[in-house]
Amino acid sequence: MSGDLTRLTAHAMAVGLRAGDFTAEELATAHLDAIEAEDRALGAWLAVDRTEVLVQAHAADATLDLARRVGPAMSATLHPLHGVPVALKDLVSVRGGRCTAGSRILAGYTSPYDAHITERLRAVGAVILGKTNMDEFAMGSSTEHSAYGPTSNPWDLDRVPGGSSGGSAAAVAAYHAPVAIGTDTGGSVRQPASLCGIVGMKPTYGRVSRYGVVAFASSLDQVGPLARDARDAAALLHAVAGRDDRDSTSAPIPVPDGLLSLPDSDDEAAAGIRGLRLGLPREYFVAGMEPGTEARIREAVTLLEAAGATVEEVSLPHTDYGIAAYYIVASAEASANLARYDGIRFGLARRGGDVLEDYLATRGEGFGPEAKRRIMLGTYALSAGYYDAFYGKAQKVRTLIKADFDAVWAAGVDAIVAPTSPSVAWRLGAKLDDPVAMYLTDVCTLPVNMAGLPGASIPAGLSDGLPVGLQLIGRPWSELELLRLARGFEGITAGAPWRGVEPPGLAALRSASSPRPADRAAALGAGDR
Ligand code: GLN
Repeated sequence: MSGDLTRLTAHAMAVGLRAGDFTAEELATAHLDAIEAEDRALGAWLAVDRTEVLVQAHAADATLDLARRVGPAMSATLHPLHGVPVALKDLVSVRGGRCTAGSRILAGYTSPYDAHITERLRAVGAVILGKTNMDEFAMGSSTEHSAYGPTSNPWDLDRVPGGSSGGSAAAVAAYHAPVAIGTDTGGSVRQPASLCGIVGMKPTYGRVSRYGVVAFASSLDQVGPLARDARDAAALLHAVAGRDDRDSTSAPIPVPDGLLSLPDSDDEAAAGIRGLRLGLPREYFVAGMEPGTEARIREAVTLLEAAGATVEEVSLPHTDYGIAAYYIVASAEASANLARYDGIRFGLARRGGDVLEDYLATRGEGFGPEAKRRIMLGTYALSAGYYDAFYGKAQKVRTLIKADFDAVWAAGVDAIVAPTSPSVAWRLGAKLDDPVAMYLTDVCTLPVNMAGLPGASIPAGLSDGLPVGLQLIGRPWSELELLRLARGFEGITAGAPWRGVEPPGLAALRSASSPRPADRAAALGAGDR
């Protein structure tokens, strides 16, 4: 039985837990066993503490037992994630646990407190399974910039899972966790969701508190859910969203309870598409986009029209400048945020002859190449004499990007549909020597962060046997409407043959002889850099 439990969605787990079909302990154990048997070849996890997980599961079971005795009124008060395992990207603080942010500089660091979202997950009775691999400080699009080695894509173990939340996405796609937390600064929830064939959402900036989440670029970072379907993503967002006084950018806007009642029936979900006005941005079909990706997106548009939506071409004219402006703004903020890793307050400490030498030795050894690249870029962009030319200019471009979206909403468009990534998952190592090629993969996701909008990526079929993600972008605070649209698309594609395709890498994960992702990457020519 325990093997099957990992295949359930979180909403099916909720039903089974309440009915007493299985316990939170059995659920947790099934996932822990899968991780133990398979993660050597996947590389999705950085920390899993079985004892700690079982303590949480027992507490969840005690409440479930009580609820069964008290009756349906009490069961109804339990959150759908009660007793359900959740994975956390390893930049979310869990008191007493490690939190590396994928960096060597935080290798020995222990979080002194829970992040706001960790508190929220505990409050709803979720079971925190462990911490997942990521690009160092969330800088990257492939999870190859982790100091702890790369993660593989469950669809093809020789390919990247996307990034920077690649560990969370791979864990969910490989059935190591039903749902996971990621963060998205320029695409890091949506892009790995796309490349791993799952659902991922970046909420509106300010929807989720960043308190206790390691900062990359503070004006862009948002915490978001990864899941195997829209209902599970909605439930996880519901659990973690909302105002927190410790993050002044978190908004005092009510979190809609409708997130917990997305339609169960495919027909009802599909009916919600009728009458929607959707925009298809001309500029998102960029030169170099893979034909298979473009074909899947255009087919998705046809299906949405057949379900009663109108789809019109829209223009987001400043898209072309998004990458340049994003990499200035994000690097500038990163250079400031990463200044705190000084060998005195956090993690790694190396001693030189004086304070400056301590600093140089600690940071020289602790940061990997991508973090160093961003610190140099960002420091340069902020330096006297260059500030106006680079940082100031990038902020102006940011305003223009936001104005592009505002014009689309003002014209009455309900949501934008677009590709998430111009390509399917690429081979480990393929872009590691060419940072700009890696940066270019973010073209369709990062304007959404620059404008502070909510965006989701949902599975839309396969190209050459690899997942293609459809991106949905909405007005500020329209997460519920976007997830209803996502659920509607699930409804109209419920019978599609690709829905039943199992990630082919899963079979190899089970064989003990599969090489670790790090060895696989080395064999493919992607060394440590
Ligand atoms: N790939 C982008 C970057 O490297 C976005 C990363 C993210 O969203 N955290 O900055």
